[in-house]
Amino acid sequence: MPELPEVETVRRELAPWLGGRTVLAAERLAPPGPKYRDLERSVGQTICAVTRRGKFLVLPLSRGDELIVHLGMTGVVSQAAPAAGEAVYERVRLRLSGGPPDTLHFRDARRFGRFLVVPAGDYAGLPTLAAMGPEPLSDAFTPTGFRRALARSTVAVKAYLLSQRPVAGVGNIYADEALWRARIHPETPAKQVSAAKAAALHAAIREVLEASLEAQGTTLNDYRTVNGEVGAYLEQLAAYGHAEEPCPRCGTPLRRIVVGQRGTVYCPRCQRRRRPLRPA
Ligand SMILES: [Zn+2]
Repeated sequence: MPELPEVETVRRELAPWLGGRTVLAAERLAPPGPKYRDLERSVGQTICAVTRRGKFLVLPLSRGDELIVHLGMTGVVSQAAPAAGEAVYERVRLRLSGGPPDTLHFRDARRFGRFLVVPAGDYAGLPTLAAMGPEPLSDAFTPTGFRRALARSTVAVKAYLLSQRPVAGVGNIYADEALWRARIHPETPAKQVSAAKAAALHAAIREVLEASLEAQGTTLNDYRTVNGEVGAYLEQLAAYGHAEEPCPRCGTPLRRIVVGQRGTVYCPRCQRRRRPLRPA
């Protein structure tokens, strides 16, 4: 599932290609619905830039709209038409001004992605985007602000990270990795995370995202860069996807549990819960 490093990698590839091009035609190949809303409004507008907010790509258009793209679980933006077996998953096609490649293809096998046009900043239909925390690699993401955000929530710290509210762009993979690095049990209520641990988690989130960005992200299944390449961070994952394997730090077998309906891997020795829910 694409998270911040994957979406940022796609953004960096799209920006030089799409910036300054005008949308000549927008074709929706999926059934109509809120996920592919108002695409026709992009026609005749020039793409001013390709920006990112959390896991959303935000493309400001010349007449005051924004094209919003979310890759969901399996969304892929490409310059090349999908291969024969994947053509059935193509949802949107944009024809663009300028020389070739002049067609953007969006395919999405499982259809959790979105590709729609909204008036700039009107995120009423996109509540996650509307309530998103600071960008983790920006100066707006500070240890103090992060600690205060954690103190406002009683839900499990991992689930709170996935909500995008304390910080933008962290999904299942990087939440597990960052909590492992910071030695925090994923079920710890957010407000019980100590100041020292909150600072460690703040640093860990930046470290894992920066390292993954360096490797062009993590490819588990569908995620590809715009040029069709896979992300190479998979080999560097310490916890995610390694249940039952020895913890790289202490050798204890990593354990898999479910937190907020998401599979979660942690080290029962390095990431102890301070106060167990049930006495042993
Ligand atoms: Zn360990």
